[in-house]
Amino acid sequence: MKIAVCVSHVPDTETKVKIGSDGKTIDTSGVNYILNPYDEFAVEEALKIREKDGGEVVAVSLGEDANKETLRKALAMGIDKAVLLKDEHERDSYAVAKGIAEYLKSYEPDLIFVGKQSIDYDNLQVGGLIAEFLGLPSVSVAVKLEYADGKLKAEREIEGAHEHVEVTLPCVVAAQRGLNEPRYPSLKGIMQAKKKPIEEIEAAQAESRVKVLGMKKPPEKQPGKIVGEGVDAVPELVRLLREEAKVI
Ligand SMILES: Cc1cc2nc3c(=O)[nH]c(=O)nc-3n(C[C@H](O)[C@H](O)[C@H](O)COP(=O)(O)OP(=O)(O)OC[C@H]3O[C@@H](n4cnc5c(N)ncnc54)[C@H](O)[C@@H]3O)c2cc1C
Repeated sequence: MKIAVCVSHVPDTETKVKIGSDGKTIDTSGVNYILNPYDEFAVEEALKIREKDGGEVVAVSLGEDANKETLRKALAMGIDKAVLLKDEHERDSYAVAKGIAEYLKSYEPDLIFVGKQSIDYDNLQVGGLIAEFLGLPSVSVAVKLEYADGKLKAEREIEGAHEHVEVTLPCVVAAQRGLNEPRYPSLKGIMQAKKKPIEEIEAAQAESRVKVLGMKKPPEKQPGKIVGEGVDAVPELVRLLREEAKVI
């Protein structure tokens, strides 16, 4: 089984995002980058399938040289091969997915994993677009997978229920939190990952269709209001909820 996992290089969740001087991009100075948390579930699931059924897992990341750091984390977790699809230029989700799909056409994986979303720009589009470009079925928000006889049974997390679906391979699966418990890289894995080569390929060109016009911070939260204490405060609280907040 050939499995490809798409991994995104994203700012650490602790990052206090600052908008760059151009007003359109994030100021990346001092930002610590990590392997996108949803992609950790994707890597883990790919490794579990390989451990059970054999095969190869390749991690693919499209972006700048710095993405190698994230590919090394995937190598340390235990993937077999890492590929950087190089491009220094800004791309929208369409162009990111197109670049990845062009590479996957030559790799011909049986299974493609993505994370549910990339926590940098939160577009939730790349997995579906890759599936469309490759003409493959796609399963989103997967929380449980069972693979047998060339078919994949998946449980999807939907509002108030879990939906059970079945797809034939090859297909694209987007990993949701709960799919598994990602392993920590072992010290041996970290040391080995430092020496493993990362294949570098120029990403296939693709024109972005969405242009970022600007970014701005959401309005500051209003400070909380203490209306009193105990039961005496209830009438005033109800009045404020009704007349000011207009929620009741
Ligand atoms: C060099 C570069 C600079 C960029 N600069 C900007 C910018 O300044 N402003 C802006 O708005 N956008 C920018 N983008 C676009 C933005 O980073 C992409 O949209 C992002 O890569 C994917 O985020 P998303 O929200 O579209 O992904 P989602 O659709 O939410 O991601 C879902 C899944 O797709 C996979 N995936 C997503 N991205 C990648 C990737 N790059 N490589 C491998 N797998 C991936 C992961 O598995 C991820 O979990 C830039 C992109 C690049 C490559």
